[in-house]
Amino acid sequence: MSKPIKIEKLAPKKPHGLIVVITGNGKGKTTSAMGMALRASGHGLHVCIIQFMKGDLYTGEWDGVKMLGDLVELHATGMGFCGIQGNSYSHAEHRTSAQTAIELAQTKMSSGNYEIIILDEINNALKLKLVDLEQVLGLIKGKPKLMHLVITGRNAHPDIVELADTVSEVCEVKHAYQKDIEPQPGIDY
Ligand code: ATP
Ligand code: MG
Repeated sequence: MSKPIKIEKLAPKKPHGLIVVITGNGKGKTTSAMGMALRASGHGLHVCIIQFMKGDLYTGEWDGVKMLGDLVELHATGMGFCGIQGNSYSHAEHRTSAQTAIELAQTKMSSGNYEIIILDEINNALKLKLVDLEQVLGLIKGKPKLMHLVITGRNAHPDIVELADTVSEVCEVKHAYQKDIEPQPGIDY
């Protein structure tokens, strides 16, 4: 029988609340953030996910995070992607719901109940002027020192990139949609 492997658990000497940005045109930004929630749950950390502009199209993480028990909560706010064909809500309606999501983020952040807060697609909400740059910068600058803040979405604003500690740009090499392959459950939504 082989010798059992001893599993070590690292702990940082100096805990640091990080600002992490996942941006770029390739696929994998939201799923990267969900991966962090999954990983964090293993450490017993509390995670709050707020999704901007999502709510009209089912995606697996809504129920998936429930499997992680009380550690991870997810709020899908919004009415889908603003400005695309087939989305019937006005810019004003999208903005109202994004503003509610900003208030929710402020409340959750100041509650002190979470070690990680994920603001999924907030970069897109900013780009589309559903939220203001000052609001996002306010959230970043006002974050509790040891809390991690994860921000996703295409076209991250340079001021957000500047404030962040870790920034990844997901680059599209290929995407199945180019071969007219439909989005597949579990992979794409
Ligand atoms: P995912 O949610 O899969 O991690 P993402 O967050 O990186 O993707 P979004 O821009 O939020 O990407 O788009 C979400 C949806 O659009 C997913 O179904 C994803 O597969 C699809 N998608 C992502 N990148 C592209 C792309 N370059 N072209 C077309 N569809 C894409
Ligand atoms: Mg996404």
